Amino acid sequence: MATPVKIKATVEEVVKHTGSVVSYRFVPQGRVPKFHAGQFLHLALDEYYPDRQWPESRVFSIASSPSERAKELAVTISVKGRYTGRIFNTLEEGSECWLKLPYGEFLFPSDRRLILIAGGVGITPYLSLLKQMLEEKSGQTVTLCYGVRSAEHYLFGELLGRCEAELPNFGKTVYCEDGSLPGNRGTLDIAAIHAAAPEGSLFYLSGPPAMIDTFKNRLRDLGVESERIRLDDWE
Ligand SMILES: Cc1cc2nc3c(=O)[nH]c(=O)nc-3n(C[C@H](O)[C@H](O)[C@H](O)COP(=O)(O)OP(=O)(O)OC[C@H]3O[C@@H](n4cnc5c(N)ncnc54)[C@H](O)[C@@H]3O)c2cc1C
Repeated sequence: MATPVKIKATVEEVVKHTGSVVSYRFVPQGRVPKFHAGQFLHLALDEYYPDRQWPESRVFSIASSPSERAKELAVTISVKGRYTGRIFNTLEEGSECWLKLPYGEFLFPSDRRLILIAGGVGITPYLSLLKQMLEEKSGQTVTLCYGVRSAEHYLFGELLGRCEAELPNFGKTVYCEDGSLPGNRGTLDIAAIHAAAPEGSLFYLSGPPAMIDTFKNRLRDLGVESERIRLDDWE
């Protein structure tokens, strides 16, 4: 795994998806180390001085493709508390911040069938993988099971549409709580997802901690070995 590197970056683009979910695209001012889809970075708003400690930061999944790292890094942030509120109110196009990466073991082997389960903004750690798969025209068997509260919270529709159109073995199942999207009405149904999964699939869980915990236990009860359950725990 690459040694983490601290890089100053400039905000190139800000996309507000909802009142509390926003994507930032950064242009790095230094050399970005290699990272893997599924890894995360630290984002610090205050200046970093090499002779001082790394400032307060929070961690976010890297949402851009590993191959684009020299040109861009991206994150999608849901405003939850004090620091993400500060990010939301501070960062605009042209702002500078500090990034530190790569971190994390939420990785996607290319020789396995993958079931990617995302609750809400929990879709972020999958974005890098999906962009990489599009670039490589990957034939890997990957199913995204995406649960959202309403149509307004369904993010990255264009990217997901491209995956469906261009990747031969990509599938998507949407669960929408209020029924405002085509697909299943209600919350993610882990028993149905498990029943439809190809033999030997790896199950990836990303979303609210309570969802991750419940689904992990349910998958274990259904006989899925720990090795086949991968968690992106935001606690
Ligand atoms: C692997 C991973 C990936 C993640 N990816 C994303 C993502 O892609 N998008 C997203 O929206 N969120 C992501 N998160 C969650 C994100 O890191 C924030 O922690 C979360 O949004 C909480 O919001 P906040 O920081 O504003 O809350 P705050 O109220 O500011 O703080 C929340 C918690 O941060 C910790 N904390 C407090 N002070 C400090 C400090 N000085 N330094 C460090 N930690 C402190 C405490 O545990 C506190 O309870 C991820 C978390 C993890 C662990």
